[in-house]
Amino acid sequence: MQTHTTICALATPPGTGGIATIRLSGPDAYAVAGRVFYPQNPEKSVAEAKGYTALFGHYRLRGAEMDETVALFFRAPHSYTGEDVVELSVHGGSAMASGLLEALIAAGAAPAAPGEFTRRALENGRMDLTQAEAVMEVISAGGRQGAALAKAALDGALAKKIGAIETALREVAAHLTAWVDYPEEDVPALAPNTLAATLAEQKAQLDGLINSYGGGAVLRHGVDCVLLGRPNVGKSTLLNLMAGFERAIVTPQAGTTRDVVEQAVMLGDTGIRLNLFDTAGVREIGRGGDEIEAEGIRRSWKKLEEAGLVLAVFDAGQPILDEDIALAKRCRESAAARTRPALAIFNKQDLATEVFNRDVQKLAPYFDAVLPLCAKDPASQPALCRAVETLLGTATVDPTAAALCSERQLAAATAARDALAEGVNALADGFGLDAVGVCLEDALAALATLTGENATEAVIDAVFARFCVGK
Ligand code: GDP
Repeated sequence: MQTHTTICALATPPGTGGIATIRLSGPDAYAVAGRVFYPQNPEKSVAEAKGYTALFGHYRLRGAEMDETVALFFRAPHSYTGEDVVELSVHGGSAMASGLLEALIAAGAAPAAPGEFTRRALENGRMDLTQAEAVMEVISAGGRQGAALAKAALDGALAKKIGAIETALREVAAHLTAWVDYPEEDVPALAPNTLAATLAEQKAQLDGLINSYGGGAVLRHGVDCVLLGRPNVGKSTLLNLMAGFERAIVTPQAGTTRDVVEQAVMLGDTGIRLNLFDTAGVREIGRGGDEIEAEGIRRSWKKLEEAGLVLAVFDAGQPILDEDIALAKRCRESAAARTRPALAIFNKQDLATEVFNRDVQKLAPYFDAVLPLCAKDPASQPALCRAVETLLGTATVDPTAAALCSERQLAAATAARDALAEGVNALADGFGLDAVGVCLEDALAALATLTGENATEAVIDAVFARFCVGK
């Protein structure tokens, strides 16, 4: 989809702020800017402004002088979009920015669609689809490690890695084609071992990317985490241990925590953002039970279904009750629960009883890991960090390495990996080389979808649907 319109949009967040920047991109960017922006120095003109230079002046709306303005110029193809680009900065807040947008539209620019600047960058070959997706990830990353991961993708780490896999596969594919199609040409046969080794090696590269996807996604987006346990086992105390300050009310009376408290915390040095839901102490309410508390309990169970991590807290100073075992079972009940990690925290180790330690096996089998802890003691935070990190697979993620950063990329990489696995099996089972060739072609097609080389318009539309206006 080649387009020749000149587009404009606010590139900074709407609302109060020091500066608002409006970006203009397209073949008429300079002409449109020239009708709206007036340099302070009358000897300067927009039309003659060189790329990578700035001019100071003001903008006009319907002939009236409006705000002071700084204009930054980029000449095609040396700009974000690969087109002529002018960035105009005015005072923040919506008044001056919306006046400038109005003036630019009156002067011939069209309002940009969400992600249209980045889409143009893609169409003009300034980046591939994995990099375009990374732009959105960099913008939305909450933690520093997550942002570093997205930045690596933006810098082309993934594009480069996929490119290397494609090159290796293309080489053997070309050889296979020559050998199968032109037997009379004396093309030397590809040693089956070499072929098998190449397929296995490239499959291993893809496996590596696929296996680290979950950990990377946690670093980029954080994870919804639900805290479960009977009243008084120390859930609020644990929440405070993670958050590092008093957030939930901690009292020695049962039933204090009534509602789902939402709080995002960066967990220690892990780079993991936990979206915490401190749930109402889960327990059966007898006749005459408190309605508000009952509602809180219903919400706790609902959160359990949606969470990406479960922390179930038990009091090691008390005997294990049937209620505790029922809760442990519930952590494992739904289909989602079987893939989502659950950690049992045996809290109050300073008060741990022999009865509890003897019976602990009644709970442990329902969890992916168990952690004896003293939530009241700030020194126990690192142990909690390591346990969560291991469960979520973030400890092994290298934020500077190539990583898949969207479900779309994961699906394409998985399709390529599966095609290679089929090729490996076909070779092992003694199928003809043409069968292996078909698997290779399938893998290459999936990789081309990943990088966007042969992605359909619908796929590209779906990618950009997630973008905001102005990017
Ligand atoms: P919740 O109802 O599960 O949220 O429990 P709270 O966090 O309110 O804790 C209940 C009581 O247990 C409070 O008096 C806490 O100070 C206490 N508590 C929490 N963790 C520990 C611990 O590791 N050791 C001891 N001795 N007491 C704890």
